[in-house]
Amino acid sequence: MVTDPSTASPAQELYTRALQKLDAAHYLHPFTDSKSLAAKGTRVMVRGEGIYLWDTEGKRLLDGMAGLWCVNVGYGRKRIADAAYAQMQELPFYNSFFQATNAPAIQLAAKLATLAPPQFQHVFFTNSGSEGNDTVVRMVRRYWDLLGQPDRQILISRRNAYHGSTMAGASLSGMPAMHAQGGLPIPGIVHIGQPNYLESGQGRSPQEFGMEAASWLEQKILELGVDKVAAFIGEPVQGAGGVVIPPASYWPEIQRICRKYDVLLVADEVICGFGRLGYWFGSEYFGITPDLMTFAKGVTSGYVPLGGVLVSQRVSDVLIGQGGEFAHGFTYSGHPVACAAALENINILEEEGLIDQVRTDTGPYLQQRFASLADHPLAGNVETCGFVAGLNLMQEKAADAHACRPFDPALQVGMICRSHMFGNGMIMRAVGDRMIVAPPLVMTHAQIDEMVALIRFCLDETQADLSKRGLL
Ligand SMILES: *Cc1c(COP(=O)(O)O)cnc(C)c1O
Repeated sequence: MVTDPSTASPAQELYTRALQKLDAAHYLHPFTDSKSLAAKGTRVMVRGEGIYLWDTEGKRLLDGMAGLWCVNVGYGRKRIADAAYAQMQELPFYNSFFQATNAPAIQLAAKLATLAPPQFQHVFFTNSGSEGNDTVVRMVRRYWDLLGQPDRQILISRRNAYHGSTMAGASLSGMPAMHAQGGLPIPGIVHIGQPNYLESGQGRSPQEFGMEAASWLEQKILELGVDKVAAFIGEPVQGAGGVVIPPASYWPEIQRICRKYDVLLVADEVICGFGRLGYWFGSEYFGITPDLMTFAKGVTSGYVPLGGVLVSQRVSDVLIGQGGEFAHGFTYSGHPVACAAALENINILEEEGLIDQVRTDTGPYLQQRFASLADHPLAGNVETCGFVAGLNLMQEKAADAHACRPFDPALQVGMICRSHMFGNGMIMRAVGDRMIVAPPLVMTHAQIDEMVALIRFCLDETQADLSKRGLL
């Protein structure tokens, strides 16, 4: 069942060791314990095609994570490379400060306005999702300033959310490990609980729990004071937190509460945008109409960095209409090469009908095939939403997910499982003991079958390994 039996040649081995040595000597990786990585040696990817990657040892891997939730159109798209190359030759850079701009930035802004729900007519460009969310923080505070309510400063986010790694992005994120480093969160950002049914929904139906989790927002707004709260921000489906799929009742109730108290609703669409849930934006899947939407990742399928914020008429009318300068921006806001790559990426999504395909065909197929893993002795709480899916590794199973017995987190069973996956050519991410995938949207039925078979094989290996260690 191993996808690629090739073993590295001596030359490949040497090349790999040399790169690993330089890597350990000079390259500080993001979100990495550098000391333990240096001891192990990193895996160096060299090539991608479709849903597959190859490393320096010639080993093929099935990329169940689309890079980092971003390579929506798959690897090896020459069209995007050509579009970027052509733009680099024509005009590699010009900024959008000081009354000038460039054509691809204008064209992309106009294109996004046609793709997004009708209330969105304007876009602010950044280079990443983190910068997008920093922009959100400044923009919502400016909005309330201009409306003569400068005390509306607070943004409410959620525990176990991920909104990026800049000072504001990491503050909006609800990750204790991030807040523990560098004096975060910054002032004016508070968190409520997450709509995680497995974690907190015991004894309720999913729909009851969705309403209850949304009510935490109302409680927090009233506790802080309505005149202090600027906005609520959330990912339609939490990604990095472990593919937390809220009950259907959650988002409409969140929106109702935001409207009731006039609090701006911000959807962080960095993962859910550009087709991940079978719609251009995840908000559409959940039937909500936010005031701002952050995007990044899938807008270029990760081929070059680009992010931004879609701004609804409600906010742009004030920002633009009340006049004055918004004192915020990045050198590379609206970078012509990134925008040209995004336009071509969007052309591919449209021409190949990839988003409809996920909604009506491959998404339902993934759901059905992934659900078949539920009979595995280790698998509990098996869930899919569009092209994201997750399952929890359980020590002891029960019919009701709440009655399953999880492993002791200290055993890091998720990481053990992830090693078996990687070792067998399957890239699946572990968030604690929840194993997740977010494949490229180009994945076919046959490739879904291949992925699910590979996951099952690796779950078997994990089970055997855990038994050997006496953990089962
Ligand atoms: C990845 C991510 C971000 C941060 O984007 P970067 O481009 O890494 O700065 C923000 N929000 C969500 C939901 C993300 O998944």
